[in-house]
Amino acid sequence: MKRILNYINGEFKAPHGNLWLDNYDPSVGEVYSQIPDSREADVSDAVAAAKNAFDAWSSLSTEKRSKYLLAISEGIQKRLTEFAEAESRDNGKPTWLATKVDIPRAVSNFKFFAQAITQFSSESHAMGSMAINYTLRKPLGVVSCISPWNLPLYLFSWKIAPALATGNTVVAKPSEVTPMTAYLLSEVCKEINLPPGVLNIVHGLGPNTGHFMSIHSDVKAISFTGGTKTGSVIAQNAAPKFKKLSLELGGKNPNIIFDDCDYEDMLSTTIRSSFANQGQICLCGSRILVQETIYEKFIKDFTAKVAKLKVGDPFDSKTNVGAIVSKPHYEKILSYIKLAKDEGGTILTGGKSVFPKGHEKGLFIRPTIITDLPQTCRTNQEEIFGPVVTVDTFKTEEEALEKANCTEYGLSATLWTSNLKRAHRFSRDLHAGIVWVNTWLLRDLRTPFGGVKNSGVGREGGFEALQFFTEPKNICIKY
Ligand code: NDP
Repeated sequence: MKRILNYINGEFKAPHGNLWLDNYDPSVGEVYSQIPDSREADVSDAVAAAKNAFDAWSSLSTEKRSKYLLAISEGIQKRLTEFAEAESRDNGKPTWLATKVDIPRAVSNFKFFAQAITQFSSESHAMGSMAINYTLRKPLGVVSCISPWNLPLYLFSWKIAPALATGNTVVAKPSEVTPMTAYLLSEVCKEINLPPGVLNIVHGLGPNTGHFMSIHSDVKAISFTGGTKTGSVIAQNAAPKFKKLSLELGGKNPNIIFDDCDYEDMLSTTIRSSFANQGQICLCGSRILVQETIYEKFIKDFTAKVAKLKVGDPFDSKTNVGAIVSKPHYEKILSYIKLAKDEGGTILTGGKSVFPKGHEKGLFIRPTIITDLPQTCRTNQEEIFGPVVTVDTFKTEEEALEKANCTEYGLSATLWTSNLKRAHRFSRDLHAGIVWVNTWLLRDLRTPFGGVKNSGVGREGGFEALQFFTEPKNICIKY
């Protein structure tokens, strides 16, 4: 059975304790590889390597760092099929999705930040004829990047690329549930001769490996994407050492549909925004709010289309919905479906596991639509993070806004209307870091990415990320 290794100081290393974790293929429910169960000593080695590499890496010209990032981007692109198949097997997502979205996006992340760093400039503030201030932006040092399992390489590279571009050295951990593409990334780094210690990838469990990456005194900043509860633990661990934090956390995003929308476009996009990647995208619209005037029609059309989605083998190009990432997560989703029923919800379609032929031990749940639940119930307040949506109605814009904003989360929102004034007004008043109007998940890597309320602190993306990974210093020179 394949065993992957940590990548520390440019070398592949087994964990000190020789402890290993099983890695499952969720579409067949079987262990297919093992990964290091890294502990404090492994993290210490990785941080020491990153610390050693920092002076040389941060002193390189931006052009040279940019070239390394471009080489990583090209290295992934060359092995796109291998990366996509690995992502699909680890995560359960359809291979076509990994081939079309996840891996190309990781390629773009490295390319984008390779280019962005060459355009990164700082401010100056003139004080009339008295003095000039300028802002010098310096890298932070060793930074930890911790990412989740839903978009494994996509989110991993979204952190690592800007951290490296700005001259930091990195210790990174993918989710232990989906480690394979992070391992392939370390192979690419080796192939392109990235200087040792610049990027170190350590595998293991969050409360072990991730914990030591958060508390190590030589780690100056933590960029984390994951659940809100984990984010809170990391923030508490980071506080005593005043580490800089970027936290991208959970969501319970509303998808608000007015009766003046482009109906067909809305319908096909809503199927995607509800169930893409088995509903395991932090930006999925899990609470659908439909104006009363089109509610009956929407329910009929939406349910009919969702009931036809093909659930099964991730490697089948006709599959719409693949496997759920892990057994604990699968059980969590099923427990929420039960909760929805206990809370009085009506299941219009789905609501149960399926066992496709040849994948009888796999973790599959049919896309599920639930109605008849108030926004105040737990099903509508807590993040389920699976192929489950609720549908509710509203009469007026005021009511829609109140329902849209009624959770503790504020990551993203989608709005469907052809009324321009309403689109501006509503977007302004939504509690969300990202609002899509008449579209969903249309991403421009230059835009700020992140949430408000319990969905996070700070922003990733574009210059926001370059700013996060640098410390501004004011220099004032008297004329
Ligand atoms: P978790 O919070 O469980 O884990 C995220 C990462 O943190 C994993 O690598 C995990 O390791 C690690 N981790 C867990 N505990 C600790 C700890 N005590 N200290 C340091 N690291 C730790 O999230 P999931 O992996 O379950 O991902 C799903 C969540 O991510 C959802 O809530 C989703 O909304 C959110 N998310 C947010 C996004 C955003 O941009 N706002 C984007 C995508 C997802 P391990 O896996 O080994 O436990």
